[in-house]
Amino acid sequence: MKCAVANKAKDPWFQYFQDSLDYLKHRDLLRSLRSITPVSGPEVMVGQSRYLLFCSNDYLGLASEPRMKEAASKAALSYGTGSGASRLISGNLHLYGELEKEVSQLKSTEGSLVFSSGFAANVGVISALARSQDALILSDELNHASIIDGCRLSKAEVMVYPHCDSDYVRSLLSSAPPRSKILIVTDGIFSMDGDIAPLQELYALSVEYGALLLVDDAHGTGVIGENGAGSLEYVGLEGAEIVQIGTFSKALGGLGGFVAGSALVIDYLINRARSLIYSTGLPPSVLASNLMALKIVRQEPERRHKLGLLSRRLVSGLASLGFSIQKGPSPIFPLIIGGKREILELSRFLWNKGIFVPAIRPPTVPEGKSRLRISLSAVHTQEQVEELLEALTQFFRRGA
Ligand SMILES: *Cc1c(COP(=O)(O)O)cnc(C)c1O
Repeated sequence: MKCAVANKAKDPWFQYFQDSLDYLKHRDLLRSLRSITPVSGPEVMVGQSRYLLFCSNDYLGLASEPRMKEAASKAALSYGTGSGASRLISGNLHLYGELEKEVSQLKSTEGSLVFSSGFAANVGVISALARSQDALILSDELNHASIIDGCRLSKAEVMVYPHCDSDYVRSLLSSAPPRSKILIVTDGIFSMDGDIAPLQELYALSVEYGALLLVDDAHGTGVIGENGAGSLEYVGLEGAEIVQIGTFSKALGGLGGFVAGSALVIDYLINRARSLIYSTGLPPSVLASNLMALKIVRQEPERRHKLGLLSRRLVSGLASLGFSIQKGPSPIFPLIIGGKREILELSRFLWNKGIFVPAIRPPTVPEGKSRLRISLSAVHTQEQVEELLEALTQFFRRGA
């Protein structure tokens, strides 16, 4: 049946959708999806053209690694394509047990629990931990959207503190009502800036005030620290009483989120995290390749070393263009230019040269902080990094 189109313009929903899109368009904030076909390593096809990616979170290049593909295909051939039910019903495939053992080992925790995505993990874990009204959440202003949504779903009072300001956190803690359950939540590595949270200070505060610290290490896991355990390892806090969130979707080249912590917290979450309880388990292929990813992270530190090498070259190249990147140990490089127009222009300039780095604009980042978010992968070559630097040099020196 054909829809009636005659009165579309009078339909309040139609008007609302159209107005919203017009609003975004006029502010250079309209987004759209691009269809991409992976070719090899950091190269993709978009339409008929080949592009070099500098925006993927596949930091170790595991998403295209042959052993990962093989693990996924084997599991699919043996066990099928879906888990058939939520984990608490019959979807708790045996691969989960192995995977959680590996995660706990990597993160030096008693236990861990795998969710269907990092987003689901944050939303489920935060809303479950802070499910009563006497809870208080202190949250960094640049925390990931899934943390913000977890806070919204909680029953807690939420206080947002200035980025990485542990003195401010102390002042909030010292004036918090007595006997409230306090959760301090922060990204380990911030996704759009690549900097690291003041984890030592936040942990010391959590101990001093009897608060619980939750660190979302989506961008640190597999990449930083001697063994790739993430930002807690990097600052020497492995084994501390901290609840950690992570994802298999970035450096681990797959899909799925996890929380790692004490056995007690994990048992609590199995019973309270709604995004775990009411959502279907991951398919066997994904669990198997996630397992392979953790093995590779453990056995091949050279991938992290290569990333470090490429990072140093990029930072020095950007410095000679006048950008001093103040950042932590992550493979994320924010080129903050500010204006949305300019950043779109730069992104388009690179695109025309076959290099794909999208413009990051509000609301993903604050107003006036639009940027190119360059990310590196261990499968980039030195030549490809030079190619990017050459293109950036051309852009900034044009007309000079
Ligand atoms: C990407 C990201 C997530 C969400 O993880 P997915 O597995 O992609 O759903 C959560 N937190 C942070 C900090 C992230 O960057």
